[in-house]
Amino acid sequence: MLHYSCDLCKRPIDVGSEMRHVVKIEVFQAVEEGRCEEGDCCEEGDIDEIDHLDEVHAMLERIEESQPDDECDAFDDNATRVFRFDLCEGCRTMFLKNPLGGRHGKKLDFSNN
Ligand SMILES: [Zn+2]
Repeated sequence: MLHYSCDLCKRPIDVGSEMRHVVKIEVFQAVEEGRCEEGDCCEEGDIDEIDHLDEVHAMLERIEESQPDDECDAFDDNATRVFRFDLCEGCRTMFLKNPLGGRHGKKLDFSNN
């Protein structure tokens, strides 16, 4: 039998008597329209721009060489990250009220009070 625990309050979740909720968060780099990364559609650009790109590329290579291999993953900001959490009923409710974990104690002005 699988045992789950809430990733927020660390409380074991007894799936026999309560609901287990799964939160999946995917973070990836948005690709804006009209912008290209590969250069395939930028061939009409002037030569100066191409030289500049070469310089940037060479600079990036120097930076990569200066970093230990085991740290490269941590700096790969373009990689898609997927987070998956198990939540108990109570933490699910809390999460839905404040999904991005903004400041607690600061009330959102939804009411017209
Ligand atoms: Zn919980």
